[in-house]
Amino acid sequence: MNLNNAGSQAIIEVKGLKKSFGSHVVLQNIDFTVQPSQVVVVIGPSGSGKSTFLRCLNGLETAEGGTIRACGHAVVEQGKMMPEAKLDALRTEVGMVFQSFNLFPHLSVLDNITLAPTALRGVPRKQAEEQGRQLLKKVGLEHKADVYPGTLSGGQKQRVAIARALAMEPKVMLFDEPTSALDPELVGEVLQVMQNLAAEGMTMLIVTHEMGFAREVADVVVVMDQGSIVEAGPPAQIFTAPKEARTRSFLQTML
Ligand code: ADP
Ligand code: MG
Repeated sequence: MNLNNAGSQAIIEVKGLKKSFGSHVVLQNIDFTVQPSQVVVVIGPSGSGKSTFLRCLNGLETAEGGTIRACGHAVVEQGKMMPEAKLDALRTEVGMVFQSFNLFPHLSVLDNITLAPTALRGVPRKQAEEQGRQLLKKVGLEHKADVYPGTLSGGQKQRVAIARALAMEPKVMLFDEPTSALDPELVGEVLQVMQNLAAEGMTMLIVTHEMGFAREVADVVVVMDQGSIVEAGPPAQIFTAPKEARTRSFLQTML
């Protein structure tokens, strides 16, 4: 047990986050917390800062104001970014899944999954392969271990990408529009895998335009617009009785 973390329960804690690209402020005054096993869905118009926010959480973007702690690690302290060396430990604990899958095309499905655990964590190959096959089973693709990603559908690729992220045994999973690149008939199989993960108690932060999924699976829905959090609350509140006009107008565009 790490006594240093005993007092801080939250998996992700953000206070007063500010991020600019040049003179363009893309995130400001972001206060945000994710508790263990919570599923938080982030919604909002294109360009509102959702991806940048996710990328700030594991130090892929340099923030210039505020504080971020994730999985017990400091990422930004009062506007000061932690050095890269300190961020490496954090990044092994934060799983990320992107719209574009980003599988290695020259590696088999199983090798895609075992690469990080064997290379970064020193897990013996045999053990990594056993775990990889278990994870493939979890995402319904145990029969695809030996094929190359190029032979898979988009939905299958994304399920492999999820299995690959899980292989590092992350404490939290970040998803950035995981189904946006998929043909409509393949969206459901990916959402189902995510729903199963949520049911197992995985802590998840998900940017998505799938409002039905948000309504059903989210504990908290966060609405972003123009770099700020407009409002946040349980899906029943956000979708049925939003407090903010900007939330209502965004939801209108989703109908
Ligand atoms: P979202 O994911 O909600 O669509 P983004 O986080 O991608 O929004 O972008 C938020 C704003 O930041 C947009 O105005 C976008 O053009 C800008 N932006 C994002 N990435 C960069 C970058 N690397 N350089 C400059 N501007 C960027
Ligand atoms: Mg985005």
